[in-house]
Amino acid sequence: MSKSIIGLHHVTAIAGDPQRNVDFYAGVLGLRLVKLTVNFDDPGTYHLYFGDETGRPGTILTFFPWPGAQKGLQGTGQVTTVSFAIPEGAMDYWIDRLRNAAVDYDGPFDRFEEEVISFNDPDGLQLELVTHPGIKTGNPQHGGPVPTEKAIQGFYGITISEEGYERTAGLLTATLGFKQTKEIGSRFRYEIGEGGSGTIVDVQCLPSWHRGVVAVGTVHHVAWRTHTDEEQREWREEIVEKGYNVTPIIDRRYFHSIYFREPGGVLFEIATDPPGFAIDEPVEQLGTHLMLPPWLEPNRNKIEMVLPPVRLPAHSGDGKDEQRAA
Ligand code: ZN
Repeated sequence: MSKSIIGLHHVTAIAGDPQRNVDFYAGVLGLRLVKLTVNFDDPGTYHLYFGDETGRPGTILTFFPWPGAQKGLQGTGQVTTVSFAIPEGAMDYWIDRLRNAAVDYDGPFDRFEEEVISFNDPDGLQLELVTHPGIKTGNPQHGGPVPTEKAIQGFYGITISEEGYERTAGLLTATLGFKQTKEIGSRFRYEIGEGGSGTIVDVQCLPSWHRGVVAVGTVHHVAWRTHTDEEQREWREEIVEKGYNVTPIIDRRYFHSIYFREPGGVLFEIATDPPGFAIDEPVEQLGTHLMLPPWLEPNRNKIEMVLPPVRLPAHSGDGKDEQRAA
């Protein structure tokens, strides 16, 4: 097999108010806002991308903020938890930080050989911070509100909840190349490549739970990384052959994407590592201005009038405390 999945590329969820979303992810969690753009399929709404210092795949949590929209329902057929990796020894710092921000949390508790705390974002999306001895470190935002030696280093993994896990497990292992590495109760762990942070999928089998409804506070889809456009074409061919209903390759400006629904109902995407977030603004300025793809640029005035104003986080690179996006 010449093509491969490297791990998580990004996770996209639905938020309510964009300001509250930015304040939580950039302010409390200290992620860098690496791209401020619009939902290309609905340009009157934002698409916010949070990640590490340079916006590398495997660190990117994105949101479609739908102010005033209905809350979703977490349940089966969904990614129900997004887990971030923090450095060894950083748990006490985070417990204090969440307390000071009045964020309720559960834990720390042990799972496999990990230390985990669990909490919700302001829209109810379930998050975890995970650490263990020897956990990989990354390149978190420099000069943000959280010191780099304590900061979120990128994704640890995701948890998918399913009514039955076998067919999803089959897709992960037989087609995408994951290996089952651990199991406890109804939780089955899969990892890909070298394993560890950014490559972990836990599938939880919860046959008596209700079916999830995707709206505010739930995950919309999860994207897996592939190296190149060529590998993506090969993935598309194979997934078509396996009988999945796959979209054509779509230009998402910062990566190229195909989408299909896995057997349990979660929307999967395969996204290319290139071209990345520095394609339309320098790394120092990522996330400091509203960026539009060339095909929407002619409508900038109209789009800026429709979008609610958002107070952006300060970044060491831009030297300003506040900027208005629109
Ligand atoms: Zn996506």
